[in-house]
Amino acid sequence: MLALGGWWNWLCQSYSPWQVELVVTVFVQLIGFWLPATLYQLVDICFPEFSKAHKLQPEPHRQPTRAEIIHCIRYAVLVTLADIAFQIGLGYLTDFRPIFVITTTLPTFKEMVRHFVWGNIAHEVLAYYVHRILHLPRFYARYHKLHHSFPAPIAFTGLYSSPVEHFFADIIPTVLTLALVAHYYEPVHILSFNCFLISVLFVGTVEHSGYDFAQPPLVKGARSAS
Ligand SMILES: [Zn+2]
Repeated sequence: MLALGGWWNWLCQSYSPWQVELVVTVFVQLIGFWLPATLYQLVDICFPEFSKAHKLQPEPHRQPTRAEIIHCIRYAVLVTLADIAFQIGLGYLTDFRPIFVITTTLPTFKEMVRHFVWGNIAHEVLAYYVHRILHLPRFYARYHKLHHSFPAPIAFTGLYSSPVEHFFADIIPTVLTLALVAHYYEPVHILSFNCFLISVLFVGTVEHSGYDFAQPPLVKGARSAS
């Protein structure tokens, strides 16, 4: 904790609050999505037998080809870069004012837990209903079919969505609640937000991995139907 405090102090004193917000959020995307998604893919490459034994849909005809996997990874890179560009654009429009609190002091444990719980409950509800709406016939083909185009998903398919779906099903449920809390109710520390963000990214990556291990309990049974 002391080392984290020192590192955080240095970061806050070296960069502007908005730059800190950008850097931390990008770093968390690397740790919460890119690292686990890459590890899942390495399991597939390095331990094919283990991988086959733990796939939720192991049938060979359902597995993505090498070209499809590369295409999906490239798409995920583009989405991540677009997210960064979006955050920079938003900063430009708001005079580079950060949404969350950036101070040299760390948030209290109680505060982090409170924002983690609020963020996750709101995210579950919002993401569930947006997903339901995206399955309505009038929206499905145009906005959501792409996300279901891999019969057996891999972790990288977590970001394989149309821009409209990514905005309404990923960005809004993840950012909106704590941004509103920060604006209208009480300050939310950037580290509290990112603690919540890393949990959302990590759970999403696990859910899309197509593997039967480390799945959140409620997802394990329902995964093949989603
Ligand atoms: Zn769906």
